Amino acid sequence: MTDSWTTPERDALRETAAKFTAAEIVPTLAQWEDAGQVPRELHRKAAALGLLGVGFDEAVGGSGGDLVDLATTKEAMVRAGASSGLLAALFTHGIACPHIVTAGDADLIDTYVRPTLAGERIGALAVTEPDGGSDVAAVRTRARADGDELVIDGAKTFITSGVRADFVTTAVRTGGAGHDGISLVVVDTDRPGLTVSGPLRKLGWHCSDTAELAFDGVRVPRANIVGAPGHGFALLMRHFVTERLSLAVHAYSVAQRSLDLAAAYAAERVTFGRPLATRQLIRHRLVDMHRRVAVARTYTRSVVERAVDGQDVAADAVLAKKTAVEACDFVVDAAVQIFGGAGYLRESEIERHYRDARILGIGGGATEVLDELAARLLGYAPEKLSATLSAPGRIVADNSGGDAT
Ligand SMILES: Cc1cc2nc3c(=O)[nH]c(=O)nc-3n(C[C@H](O)[C@H](O)[C@H](O)COP(=O)(O)OP(=O)(O)OC[C@H]3O[C@@H](n4cnc5c(N)ncnc54)[C@H](O)[C@@H]3O)c2cc1C
Repeated sequence: MTDSWTTPERDALRETAAKFTAAEIVPTLAQWEDAGQVPRELHRKAAALGLLGVGFDEAVGGSGGDLVDLATTKEAMVRAGASSGLLAALFTHGIACPHIVTAGDADLIDTYVRPTLAGERIGALAVTEPDGGSDVAAVRTRARADGDELVIDGAKTFITSGVRADFVTTAVRTGGAGHDGISLVVVDTDRPGLTVSGPLRKLGWHCSDTAELAFDGVRVPRANIVGAPGHGFALLMRHFVTERLSLAVHAYSVAQRSLDLAAAYAAERVTFGRPLATRQLIRHRLVDMHRRVAVARTYTRSVVERAVDGQDVAADAVLAKKTAVEACDFVVDAAVQIFGGAGYLRESEIERHYRDARILGIGGGATEVLDELAARLLGYAPEKLSATLSAPGRIVADNSGGDAT
């Protein structure tokens, strides 16, 4: 049966992504893990095949396609042996550029988006600060106007691809407190006063360089503000939805790959004179892993399809991420267990997936914070529940228990 994920065009895209991964990534991924970053050349090669531009319109230098195409590409890459960290490093433009495209400033698109999709430049997104990442509306990095320039002071941390980045789409405070005072501004990393520290040493995502950025009187043209001043928060929220879906795709794809690896190992590994897969306990564990991957993929794909359809999926994106992260956490853990000691060794692929998976419930919004967002979006906020429950004939809510946030 053909569905929107298995059209001839998407099958061809899947094949291109898988071949690229087998030829250009798998042989050297372990070296990049040790080096702490992927080479720029990989961006150029991926761009030459049109893979970097998937999901971006041709009008801005992309290859066209939508979120289904992007998910198809990432699914295929992980299934062929890429990792979540590799995707984070190679596709950082997926969080650095969309705001610029949405805002539609032709100069910013020409200067930053086109060369990035061509593999010539690397971009990053800097929102999180040392004081905290969950409370985005509390951004402290400040940008004050000085003639035609902005002068930026502050700090960012945990910035993916920040070590290699040529530019950083940065959340700054241009106005007063709260989300209305936040703008996005594109900062070239060679600007005087900008210090990049890293790569930060991490549990996983070793091939994805992560940086701290210190801004000390960094001057950028006011023209580098993305969209209108004060619209940064709205732009961020809009594209967080896509980022969360993308991380859900990482999660179920890594889970699928881990299941494939564990099933193959169970078929060949002999204990007590018989292959592991002949044991009912192991087979049932594989079935449980399969079930969780299937649920996560089916749900996430349905949300992706509705996003492409133009529907508001802000709440479902959060739920899909959590569903896929839980599936992934379970599956990578079970897979390492099936591998036994071999799964604990640095040279085993499953060990990398196990470590890489841990960030997926933290990045792009940590699970607890996203649960609270979902509660508001789905109408479970205390004031709404209170109104519902105190309606005539209903039980009156007891709000004395306080708020978990
Ligand atoms: C490898 C890596 C890559 C990253 N890449 C980027 C990037 O490219 N750009 C970028 O801007 N950021 C990036 N981040 C940052 C990431 O988005 C943040 O780590 C994340 O948003 C959480 O923020 P925090 O670490 O400051 O945790 P905190 O906000 O300090 O939260 C700590 C914990 O407390 C929980 N918590 C917080 N508030 C509440 C509450 N009200 N109720 C209950 N629980 C709560 C959180 O869920 C979390 O579990 C990256 C992080 C890592 C580790």
